[in-house]
Amino acid sequence: MENGNVESENLSALIFLGTGCSSAVPNALCLIQPSDPPCEVCFQSMSIPPERNPNYRCNTSLLIDYCQSNGEHNYILIDAGKTFREQVLRWFTFYRVPRVDSIILTHEHADAVLGLDDMRSVQPYSATNDISPTPIFLTQDAMDSVAVKFPYLVQRKLKEGQEIRRVAQFDWKIIESHCEKPFVVSGLQFVPLPVMHGEDYVALGFLFGDKCKVAYVSDVSRFLPTTEDVISKNGAGQLDLLILDTLYKTGSHNTHFCFPQTLDAVKRLCPKRALLIGMTHQFDHCKDNAFLLEWSRREGIPVQLAHDGLRIPIDL
Ligand SMILES: [Zn+2]
Ligand SMILES: [Zn+2]
Repeated sequence: MENGNVESENLSALIFLGTGCSSAVPNALCLIQPSDPPCEVCFQSMSIPPERNPNYRCNTSLLIDYCQSNGEHNYILIDAGKTFREQVLRWFTFYRVPRVDSIILTHEHADAVLGLDDMRSVQPYSATNDISPTPIFLTQDAMDSVAVKFPYLVQRKLKEGQEIRRVAQFDWKIIESHCEKPFVVSGLQFVPLPVMHGEDYVALGFLFGDKCKVAYVSDVSRFLPTTEDVISKNGAGQLDLLILDTLYKTGSHNTHFCFPQTLDAVKRLCPKRALLIGMTHQFDHCKDNAFLLEWSRREGIPVQLAHDGLRIPIDL
């Protein structure tokens, strides 16, 4: 693969920084306690470098390279999980992404927020933390949880006698879990898409794009009817691209869609195109995309598994 020349292009793009489940792929247990025969997908990761292995999956995360009408690029990050640093080293360098302009969080689980500490490595250096903070958009529930996980990232003033330590600087912005409460990030409007992520928990997906309509839903076990209406062909209008959660190949799971529920949802929502994310090691990229090619022909909706490092130019 050649280095992507992002800045010279006058078009927006979506960069899939991560397409894997919370424990990521390869699954550590498959390598330290191999089964007989060993797990092919995980063993492949020991012989093929991650940047050339579509089965090497970090935590789900999307970078929107938003090109404004004046040609200026803004980099909007959705989620920063446990593998954020690795994703920066691999894909920010490859696509020459120089910074993160703003962040949106889907929810406060480890695979969506534990990279926030590492955000300082992509912020300008200041020993005294005297930099403009990165805007970060999240719900009040997510804010409450992040404040417990990272009190030092939320704390406004030093306590008496406390030394200054360099930490990431954020401008926390609270958003509502409501389709009717859109918000604007670096010039691009986002519509929150509340979805059930387990029956006791609401996570957010996001709908964005004026010219091309994109919905990103990384953590979902059930669509709420109002949300489904906003992103379905039979409702508010057909999506150009649906990016959707799928955890395991078969069966079901209490907090995520698995392959059968994902494909059912794709049929119901009927987007022009869909890409799947959040996969465990049960998915083999090439084999399952061959299956999906057949499925897509049959159903008339192109669906493929995404992979880490996938970059899709798109007119937003
Ligand atoms: Zn495995
Ligand atoms: Zn989650």
